[in-house]
Amino acid sequence: MTVIAANLQAVRGRIARAAQAAGRDPATVALLAVSKTWPAEAVREAAAAAQHAFGENYVQEGVDKAAALGDLQLEWHFIGPLQSNKTRPVANAFHWVHSVDRLKIAERLSAQRDAHLPPLNVCIQVNVSGEGSKSGVAPHDARELAHAVAALPRLRLRGLMCIPEPTDDEPLLRRRFAALRALKDQLVAEGLALDTLSMGMSHDIEAAVAEGATIVRVGTAIFGARAAAGAHAGQAAPQPNGRMQTSNERHA
Ligand SMILES: *Cc1c(COP(=O)(O)O)cnc(C)c1O
Repeated sequence: MTVIAANLQAVRGRIARAAQAAGRDPATVALLAVSKTWPAEAVREAAAAAQHAFGENYVQEGVDKAAALGDLQLEWHFIGPLQSNKTRPVANAFHWVHSVDRLKIAERLSAQRDAHLPPLNVCIQVNVSGEGSKSGVAPHDARELAHAVAALPRLRLRGLMCIPEPTDDEPLLRRRFAALRALKDQLVAEGLALDTLSMGMSHDIEAAVAEGATIVRVGTAIFGARAAAGAHAGQAAPQPNGRMQTSNERHA
């Protein structure tokens, strides 16, 4: 078994135990493997271990990787910050976008989605952590944005996504995730057909599943620690190929 296959098995075990502890069916929690900064071969290895959905943060890197793996039937999720001048490739190379945080981005994705493709699945990213975080719509603006996005013809609003501030404070994380869940419940009560809570990463899978996550986005626990934290700090100009490690380096 490869390292990636073993890691996937361990992560699936964590999800299953967390779901059981919360009285949930583990099958209601999908695993999104976050492959940002890792080469196509790493994704291929995960796919060989029955992983189907992959998350990418950087537009060109994700588009290139999806194209390189076109022979596999994979599902691609864009989860990074999205600038309005980069929406076109995202609208057509990806099946999901988790990081919609303003109407202008949603309108462009809807307008640019190819007519022959099904509607693009989207989540609205909500800033549940206040000043500790810069991405995401403020909770008090999320309602209006959600209703506007739900009305766009080429998008299908699936739910909400959040990235809490980095912390080991488990009760705080639980409150952040619970806040996202409450917001989704409110929107459902208002008539929106939402089925997705995209929350939880390598270090907080358990807290997120306990609070109702339906998609957990996991990178490090599957592929290992990413090289040079902050190497992508200039997110407007990623250079994925220059930074990708070989699998030998990865497994060293
Ligand atoms: C990188 C990233 C992840 C995965 O984080 P890990 O801690 O490596 O599991 C999940 N969600 C988003 C939005 C990310 O950018």
